Amino acid sequence: MNNVIPKKPRFDLACRSAYQTLHYLKIHSFPFNLLPILGKFNIMVATYGEVARRSGKSIQDIIISTGTEDGLTIYAHGTYIVLYNETISISGRIRWTLAHELGHIVLKHFTDFDATQLTRCGLTDSEYKVLDREANTFASEFLCSPALINILPISNTSAISTILGISYEAAMYAKKKLQDYPLLHTRHSSFFRKQFYNFLNVKYCMNCHHRFILKDAKFCPICGSEKVQWGNFKQPTFIFFRNKETKEVPVMHYKNYPTTETGRIKDQCIRCENEDLKEDFKFCPICGLSTTNKCVGVPNDWSDEDIPPQAPCELGQTLPPNARYCPYCGGYSDYYIHQALPSWEDEVKQIQEEDTEYNSLSADEQIPF
Ligand SMILES: [Zn+2]
Ligand SMILES: [Zn+2]
Ligand SMILES: [Zn+2]
Ligand SMILES: [Zn+2]
Repeated sequence: MNNVIPKKPRFDLACRSAYQTLHYLKIHSFPFNLLPILGKFNIMVATYGEVARRSGKSIQDIIISTGTEDGLTIYAHGTYIVLYNETISISGRIRWTLAHELGHIVLKHFTDFDATQLTRCGLTDSEYKVLDREANTFASEFLCSPALINILPISNTSAISTILGISYEAAMYAKKKLQDYPLLHTRHSSFFRKQFYNFLNVKYCMNCHHRFILKDAKFCPICGSEKVQWGNFKQPTFIFFRNKETKEVPVMHYKNYPTTETGRIKDQCIRCENEDLKEDFKFCPICGLSTTNKCVGVPNDWSDEDIPPQAPCELGQTLPPNARYCPYCGGYSDYYIHQALPSWEDEVKQIQEEDTEYNSLSADEQIPF
């Protein structure tokens, strides 16, 4: 190999490689742990502390001899070793260093370019500016792409840094890149929409504590409340919702029923439990319930002074089987008005009774030693 290091950073290649890596590793949510990822690429990892202990030196000595405070990659005999400074107190910065080094490796900086210095000492920031900018672009697109920032349901910089596990500066930088070159970045948003579908579309109802994944849901399908927000529990607002003892945000697990890919219930009718539901049946032959739950709007006999009648909506043609309300227009569901589902309040009571029963059972059955 006698390839010459390119004069200009190959931004497009770095960007594409970051997306391919996210796709290849089946990463579907943030923040993700970088160390197992390096392991998957057979990259060895050691901390400055380990190197210092083994060589009888101090971490400061390692920083001086490597020429970098954060980390570097050493390539020798076909093996990669990433060294990083674990004493950096900002964890987002360590993640950045590891992603940056992964970028050097994925972009084949050590094997495509014939620079003996590269292989002997690893890459240092000052010597290989072009390759370093490529590795930085890789890290930025891998951990906090402006194309992702563009479609996140929140825009607060400090919340973004918490949710993606990056430093405040990295979040600011990504936001600025999006502002400066909106077209360049937004054209890549479709990759993130698909790859991180559940992460982006998870919702949480503040009223009945239902957590669910539905794109464009404005109302809670269980209780009909409009108090629905992005269900990422790392958001700072959820601090106030956490249980004081368990530190967890309460989630109520409402009963749901298995469906086919098209959203039609399978196995058995949820109202009469008839198990003879052939694939082309639109209705249960025993009780007449539809095999797909859908929005019915607000029928005349369900409307009153406060709720005017309303036609079924376009989007609500297939709803989850346990939906009492249409998440798109707030109308009623077919299963709710045909009494295939109890009211959500009744189901909460039932869940709580079962919990109490379970707890008293386990208290009785104390281990006798
Ligand atoms: Zn570098
Ligand atoms: Zn709800
Ligand atoms: Zn039935
Ligand atoms: Zn609807």
